Amino acid sequence: MFRPPETALRRALVRFARLTYERHLLVGLDGNLSVKLGDSALLCTRAGCHKGMLEDDDLVVVDRSGRKLRGRGEPTSEMAMHLACYDARPDVEAVVHAHPPTCVAFTVAGVSLAQCVLPEVVLTIGSIPTLEYQRTGTGALAELVGDAIHSHDAVMMDRHGAVCVGRDLLEAFCRLETMEHTAKVLLGARQLGQVRELPAGEAASLRAMGLARYGGPPSALPGHCQGCSGCGRPSAQGLAKSAGFSVARITGRA
Ligand SMILES: [Zn+2]
Repeated sequence: MFRPPETALRRALVRFARLTYERHLLVGLDGNLSVKLGDSALLCTRAGCHKGMLEDDDLVVVDRSGRKLRGRGEPTSEMAMHLACYDARPDVEAVVHAHPPTCVAFTVAGVSLAQCVLPEVVLTIGSIPTLEYQRTGTGALAELVGDAIHSHDAVMMDRHGAVCVGRDLLEAFCRLETMEHTAKVLLGARQLGQVRELPAGEAASLRAMGLARYGGPPSALPGHCQGCSGCGRPSAQGLAKSAGFSVARITGRA
C-alpha cells in the first residue's frame, strides 16, 4: 500500500496533535498520537509534551514492540495501547488518543455513548462503546482497547478518554472530533428532556451503508453485544445484505 514519506507524516502528526489541543479535545500534557511509518516502525509523540506546542523533535520512532529506534525523549507512556490497535487490525494506519471533556463526562456519569442517535455518526463510526475502568498505561487497559478495536473504530475508556483509529491521521482525528460533537448534541438533548434513538432497523441499514461506502469493522449496534456493554456484533455480511449493499471493502474481524 502507498504511504506518504516520513517527512509528510511528521508534518501531519504535528498538525493533528496541535489541532487536538486547539479543538479542546485535551489539555496540558494529555493525549498521544501515532502513525505507521512502515510495517515495522511507528512515529509517535514523546512522553510529557504539550500537544498545542508540539514540534518535530517531540516525535519518536519506535518499533512494533514499542522500543525506541530514534528521537529525543521517551515514547508516550500509553504506547502499549497504540500497539494493541495496530496489532488488532492491519488496516489501522493511525491512532489518536485524547481526553474529549464531554465524552469523558458521559463516562463519569455512567451514561453510554453507544446509542444510535445521529445518522451521520452511525454511517461513519457506528456505536461507541465505553470500556470498563482500567488504570492508565497498563497492559490490562491496552488489552481491553485492542479487543474492542477489532470491531470498532472509536472507543471510550471509563474516566479517561477516547481512542480512535483510522486509515490515516485525518480519519482518526475526524472520528475523535465527531465523538465529542456527538456527546455535546446528546448532552443538549438530555437537557431538553429526551434522547430519541433511531429505530433499530434504520440504524442497521445506515451502518451497512457506512460499511459498504467507507469500509471498517462490522461494528456496532446496541442491544446484542457479547463482548462489551452497549454494542452489537451482527455480521457485516448480514447487515449489508439486509440493506442491499456489497461488503467488499469491509476489513477487520467479524
Ligand atoms: Zn490518556
